[in-house]
Amino acid sequence: MNLHPETRLLHGPESAEPFEATVPPIVQSAAFAYETAEGLENVFAGREPGYVYSRITNPTVVQFERRLAALEGGRGAVACASGMAAIAAAVLGVAGAGDEIVSADSIFGGTWSLFARTLARYGIAVRFVEAGDPEAVRRAITERTRLVFAETIGNPRVNVPDLAVLAAVARERGVALAVDSTATSPVLVRPKELGAALVIHSASKYINGHGTAIGGVVVETGLFDWASPRYPLLAEWSRKAGGMAFLACLRNQVVRDLGFALSPFNAFLLTLGLESLGVRMERHCRNAERVAAFLAAHPKVLEARYPGLPAHPDRAVAERQFGGRFGGLLTLRLADKAACFRFINALERIRNVANLGDARTLVIHPASTFCRDLSEEARRAAGVTPGLVRLSAGLEHPDDIISDLEQALEKV
Ligand SMILES: *Cc1c(COP(=O)(O)O)cnc(C)c1O
Repeated sequence: MNLHPETRLLHGPESAEPFEATVPPIVQSAAFAYETAEGLENVFAGREPGYVYSRITNPTVVQFERRLAALEGGRGAVACASGMAAIAAAVLGVAGAGDEIVSADSIFGGTWSLFARTLARYGIAVRFVEAGDPEAVRRAITERTRLVFAETIGNPRVNVPDLAVLAAVARERGVALAVDSTATSPVLVRPKELGAALVIHSASKYINGHGTAIGGVVVETGLFDWASPRYPLLAEWSRKAGGMAFLACLRNQVVRDLGFALSPFNAFLLTLGLESLGVRMERHCRNAERVAAFLAAHPKVLEARYPGLPAHPDRAVAERQFGGRFGGLLTLRLADKAACFRFINALERIRNVANLGDARTLVIHPASTFCRDLSEEARRAAGVTPGLVRLSAGLEHPDDIISDLEQALEKV
């Protein structure tokens, strides 16, 4: 039966375990014992399923992965210790030294740093392009390109690339599209339906929902054929694992070798967060819409940016892609850095925190924090100016968010 997302959040796939605890039990064990040497050999050889060591699989983590895969309509998922680990794992699964990635230029600062600075040291070159310009994306793809990467809502420019168009461009060139859907969560969009090969989440944000744990996940949608000669490592895995090639490679090579594993306790917290994700996203979106409208009309705010505002250039794409909702992230522009600092320091309830998707409303000054490492060019692309403040709308009553913003703006 085709259940609604809110229902599927609460009624995930049945547990893989022989009992049916209503909340996944925390299996806080590093390793798993076998009666016989043959039994353990069979699991290592892949002849029988089983848990061996929690760096590779753990029942609590697997439960989280199964839920995410089901929510995204994917073939499977591999959870990681953080969103950054998930992005790194996805990239290292498809690319090696000499290969290239084409990435949207308006992306989260941490991902930008991974792409522009760290991967370069290991011989993977990332070309940054305006994701709203399909021609630019097409031109950037070469014989060596292994992945096209974009965020559902660019951070902090809050731009919304047309994912179906990006997927078509990538497909035409035989390249996989990976979508970081952190800002939208599985509730607002299912990138598989738009053609993505991989869906990545920082589960630390909306999925967790309460700011209690760091985690990430890579979902493989099953749309892409990894046996292509463009992906020699995955072609090799295809011979061993067939359609499970990407997931097997990620779990049994990349995540295993690099130690990106998610802890069982964090997997438990993230799974718990999923249960209320539907109602929370509804409220995050509604509050963000109210706050954006307030800020757009405020005389001290030079510009308010939110995909749901009529003036936003990507409003039509966002409306179509996210089913008439526009997420919980928005930005406001004040005169300069000093004005932003006066504003942030005057807030009473809204917290100044380097996070988003928390139950509480949060603000941050990107230029002095998570975007401070960006090059001048990257800042321009991501829309980071000294006068920019990012706001992640929480679950408070909207009037209380607005009254705090109002009193703080008076002091700017
Ligand atoms: C936070 C974030 C990440 C990184 O996730 P962590 O869990 O903090 O490692 C990646 N992408 C986006 C869009 C994010 O907001």
